[in-house]
Amino acid sequence: EAQTTDVIIIGGGGAGLAAAVSAHENGAQVILVEKMPRLGGNTIISGAAYNAADPDRQQSIEMTDLEKETVEAIIAEVQDDELVKEWQATLAEEWEAYQASGETYLFDSPSLHKLQTYNGGDKQADPVLVDQFGDQAYEAIEWLEGHGMEFNDHMFTVLGGLWSRAHKPAKPLGTGYVDTLTEYFEEHSDEMQYFLNTEATDLIIEDDKVVGVVVSSNGEDVELRANNAVIVAAGGFGANVEMREEFNEHWPSLKDIKTTNQTGATGDGIRLGQQASANLVGMEHIQLLPMGDPETGSLSGNIEQGVQDRIFVNSEGKRFVNEGERRDVMTEALFDQEDAMMWTIVDQHSYPTGDTKNNFNETIDELIEAGRAYKGDTLEELAEQIGVDPENLVATVEEFNQAVEGEIEDPFGRTLFDNKLDTAPFYAAARKPTVHHTMGGLQINKAAQVLNEAGEPIEGLFAAGEVTGGIHGSNRLGGNALADIMVYGRIAGANAANAGSGE
Ligand code: ADP
Repeated sequence: EAQTTDVIIIGGGGAGLAAAVSAHENGAQVILVEKMPRLGGNTIISGAAYNAADPDRQQSIEMTDLEKETVEAIIAEVQDDELVKEWQATLAEEWEAYQASGETYLFDSPSLHKLQTYNGGDKQADPVLVDQFGDQAYEAIEWLEGHGMEFNDHMFTVLGGLWSRAHKPAKPLGTGYVDTLTEYFEEHSDEMQYFLNTEATDLIIEDDKVVGVVVSSNGEDVELRANNAVIVAAGGFGANVEMREEFNEHWPSLKDIKTTNQTGATGDGIRLGQQASANLVGMEHIQLLPMGDPETGSLSGNIEQGVQDRIFVNSEGKRFVNEGERRDVMTEALFDQEDAMMWTIVDQHSYPTGDTKNNFNETIDELIEAGRAYKGDTLEELAEQIGVDPENLVATVEEFNQAVEGEIEDPFGRTLFDNKLDTAPFYAAARKPTVHHTMGGLQINKAAQVLNEAGEPIEGLFAAGEVTGGIHGSNRLGGNALADIMVYGRIAGANAANAGSGE
């Protein structure tokens, strides 16, 4: 027998949970299905950085001359799209006002965020989606805070994030997002339910309208019917090796590359959308990170605390890339190194004490104990431990420190600096390329409606999160996924709650 509710959500990661809460806030009863034994998806195991221009928190960061040059280059860049040109015009005005103010803190604004997002994805994204993303990123932080979530005051530049606009939750990894939204669920359990170990296998489509979902639970098929709409929030396909092979165009074969993803990131949402003739966009854009654990591919054991305070060296102890670059650029450079392996090097600035934690809730002492990170009281000692030439490592760090001081231009064009690497103890950890995120997916419009090949909304079907395409272009900036899934999760939830009513 079929169970009926207002809005059905497929997937219990960040996008699905945000959509569920938002749908309920807009008056809908909700059922969410999650195929894994727990909620959270890739969201809960992520570094959890959330990008948004922040009118308060960024005031404690000083702006450098190189960052000023970056803003000016972005204002001057030739653009074709009319909406993108509008962002530039807005940015130019904001930048002028900032300069006139005599302030010295880090400049930021939604316009700069949009432009960096769009340029950083090779202008392949849909500007209309990026526009709304940039406008609502900060508002969604306030919404989460309104539901009790806490963020640290300290903001940072996350790997491939290009700017210090990443918020870090007070709770470890992505648990802050998932716990906050799950608590809402539990407080409204009379009108909201979630089912674990419950996999959506088919959409129910009647007269070209999506009216429900077939789910499989304990080997049994059950029909769920939606009065209003279905939201697909089933995440990406980073853990699906066949799909990676099917769509990858950019990278060498990804068959043997490990992934940061949880095992449920198999692209089911893409296949479900296709049952309703959804159009797919950007499927060939697969994101790798240069930051995988060499054994497992996971982000665990990553010792960087932020982009400014670490360098990458290869097995010769030499730098090989601008470590403040886009994720695709850094990973491409890593593939060219011996064994596609590198060492992240940090110093005491990143770990004032042995029990300081990384972004994955691990202390540096714990990682050293487990043989996953190394510590030296001098750079030579560190080099001995990791088997790289000590003279090379010392020379590499000396040159980097000169670039930090502004005495030389960085040989790799790096623009993001803070402290020199000059304070013992020094630390190192090995990293390899790993599959992290899939930029492509179901095409949506501003309302988060899924579009068919003719560009028309499919009745009764919405989508949000990594399952969608078009927001990140060819390369997603670090810290933009959490903002994306919260912004579009909220929009999908609200519009699904209001869909089909009174018709
Ligand atoms: P996002 O960041 O877009 O929310 P996540 O990876 O965090 O993506 O969450 C997606 C969730 O969807 C995961 O928990 C995943 O297990 C779940 N999921 C994937 N396919 C299905 C399916 N067929 N039925 C139910 N849940 C699914």
